[in-house]
Parts: sequence; C-alpha cells; structure tokens
Amino acid sequence: MARQEPNRKQRGPGRPRHIPQRTCVVCRRTLDKRALVRIVRTPEDGVIVDPTGKRAGRGAYLCHEDQCWEQAFKTHVLDRALRAELTDADRARLREQRPRPVDSANT
Ligand SMILES: [Zn+2]
Repeated sequence: MARQEPNRKQRGPGRPRHIPQRTCVVCRRTLDKRALVRIVRTPEDGVIVDPTGKRAGRGAYLCHEDQCWEQAFKTHVLDRALRAELTDADRARLREQRPRPVDSANT
C-alpha cells in the first residue's frame, strides 16, 4: 500500500518535500527551519518569539544553542538582523519565551 497524504495539496509533479533552510543569526549554521527559533519584530508586541513562524514582520532565526541565545542578548546581532534596537523589555521577553530545546538534542 502506497503512502499517501490525503489532504495535502500537491505543488508539482512528484516533487520531494522541501524543507526550508534558515541560518542562525549568531553561529551562522544553516539548519532546517523547524530546528530554529524564529524571532519576529511586530509593530504591536515588540520583538517576540514566533512559534508558528507565521507572524508578519521582520524575522531572524536562532538555533537552540545556549551560547547563541547568550550572544543574541549580549551583542547587537539581533538588532541588526531585525533592523531595530532591542529594548531591555524585548530581551527579557525573549528570554521568557525561549522554547525548551527538543529532547532529541544530539551533542
Ligand atoms: Zn546558533
């Protein structure tokens, strides 16, 4: 029996599923989009973590490395990526909203 995905629209003939790649703004590693955390600058809510990846606004991606998050808070790499100056409130919010790394962390 062939595996089929009933409710998925096809985007072309026999095309393998494409996983979008994004780059962590700190370590510059390129990873699956799902393996990264999207940070987005919104007009209403300031700079926030975007778990859905669907918020409109200028976005930047961070991987799950503690170092990258520390660097992101210590340096202006996020400010540059988002073209905005992060406030202390923004940084505190990001710290709170940071998703827990997935269990399958391979070291
Ligand atoms: Zn990183």
